[in-house]
Amino acid sequence: MASIFSKIIEGSIPSVKIDETENEIAFLDIMPCAEGHTLIVPKKEVERFEDMDPQDTASLMVFLHRIAKAVSSAFGGVDYNVILNNGVQAGQEVMHVHYHITVSYTHLRAHETPEHLVWRVLV
Ligand code: AMP
Repeated sequence: MASIFSKIIEGSIPSVKIDETENEIAFLDIMPCAEGHTLIVPKKEVERFEDMDPQDTASLMVFLHRIAKAVSSAFGGVDYNVILNNGVQAGQEVMHVHYHITVSYTHLRAHETPEHLVWRVLV
């Protein structure tokens, strides 16, 4: 069965998309640890990181680098964590490789949304 992230990628369930390439997508986490919590997902569904095609990991890393920079800049250059939970014992709940970018705790102003802040940096 397709993972929930594959359903987001094919567009059958909604997400707040941050950016997308031919091979990757970034969207906001539905249960964020802090505003701007972003998930970076390869479009090819693979359960475990080490099972990815090495070339796909290189492409994923370039995309992760771009989005991490944008998310941090969007919140004024805040510090952030990049996390990959690999396997159930490591806390993986969605069995489709993904990185989390979680920024240090931050408050948005009333008119701001995390996705708009990041989009402004990416354009
Ligand atoms: P992990 O524990 O590393 O597998 O993290 C899975 C993450 O996916 C969690 O932070 C969830 O909140 C997030 N998540 C699950 N379903 C959705 C969804 N439909 N849209 C966005 N994020 C989701």
